[in-house]
Amino acid sequence: MTKVLVTGGTGYIGSHTVVELLNSGYEVVVIDNLCNSYIKVVDCIEKITGKRPTFYNTDLLDSTALEAIFNTHQDIAAVIHFAAHKAVGESVKKPIDYYKNNVGATVMLVEAMLKHKIEALVFSSSCTVYGEPDTLPVTENMPVKPPVSPYGNTKKICEEVIRDCTKAYSLHAISLRYFNPIGAHPSALIGELPIGSPNNLMPIVTQTAIGKRNKMQIHGGDYTTPDGSCIRDYIHVVDIAKAHVIAVERMLKNKSAAPYEAFNLGTGHGNSVFEVIEAFERTSGVKLNYEVGAKRPGDVMSIYSDTTLANTVLGWKADYDLDEMVISSWAWEKNIQNIYPEL
Ligand code: UDP
Repeated sequence: MTKVLVTGGTGYIGSHTVVELLNSGYEVVVIDNLCNSYIKVVDCIEKITGKRPTFYNTDLLDSTALEAIFNTHQDIAAVIHFAAHKAVGESVKKPIDYYKNNVGATVMLVEAMLKHKIEALVFSSSCTVYGEPDTLPVTENMPVKPPVSPYGNTKKICEEVIRDCTKAYSLHAISLRYFNPIGAHPSALIGELPIGSPNNLMPIVTQTAIGKRNKMQIHGGDYTTPDGSCIRDYIHVVDIAKAHVIAVERMLKNKSAAPYEAFNLGTGHGNSVFEVIEAFERTSGVKLNYEVGAKRPGDVMSIYSDTTLANTVLGWKADYDLDEMVISSWAWEKNIQNIYPEL
């Protein structure tokens, strides 16, 4: 069995990817320091797949522990690197934390991979590297813009570090640039469950619907978009997870077109915040208590992907539509209390 190391494997996208890897016959080792996820996720992954990944509660910045894991698992064939802080606002207040945890840890991880001759890396990147795009949809060869936040800058810098390493060393890497991942596994056993208060739209919608919040705000209703709210390319987390398995296979089967490649992961369609709310209210039958508030600083007005490269070169295509995304997010929200009664 081919062994894959997944950093951040108990997080939102990480856990869904571990499920897809196990279902595709891979053996999986997870490293996560549980700073923004729960150990119970490992049990839920086992419930879904019937297989338990090997789990290490380890910080990537702990070089001794990282080295011990690589020594124990000499047969790791590829690494998928998710572990990172991801709150835009927090990154503005704590840039050192973000550069150390996101960039520092990536450098250490790649160094350890090179030492142990592991030559395939999938990096969890983001459409944030495109900033406010000049034209839509966004293609991979569009200029990477000056990032609006330290968080966005860490994604840009990590991509550059990894790309430079693929030029200098025997390393192949694929950066997957996610647009807006939402939704949850159809089992409703794993989903988005950040520790503390979420900043992203979908958990705020479902938390409002279930009564964890009184009211939610639409951040800006007077953008120059058809309905005045921002437009994003929402993409089901299970579709995103499947792309990681394809990316690993691409490198392990020597199918990469170049040592470093980057692909957009989106549906190619933009939806406004009002459209997401409409889809949620219609499919759930729950009326959301919301108001239109001020614009959120740093928000891009409109962004959605051109997925031609991922469709034709990577051989990946999003399957789920917006209704399926919001239905699965709602099923997950309603099940959280059953799995985590302590929360
Ligand atoms: N949004 C909103 N209310 C919220 C959270 C988000 O109106 O409580 C909007 C936000 O302004 C953006 C969209 O929802 O237009 C997606 O935001 P999210 O934070 O999920 O992702 P982003 O694209 O900003 O990374």
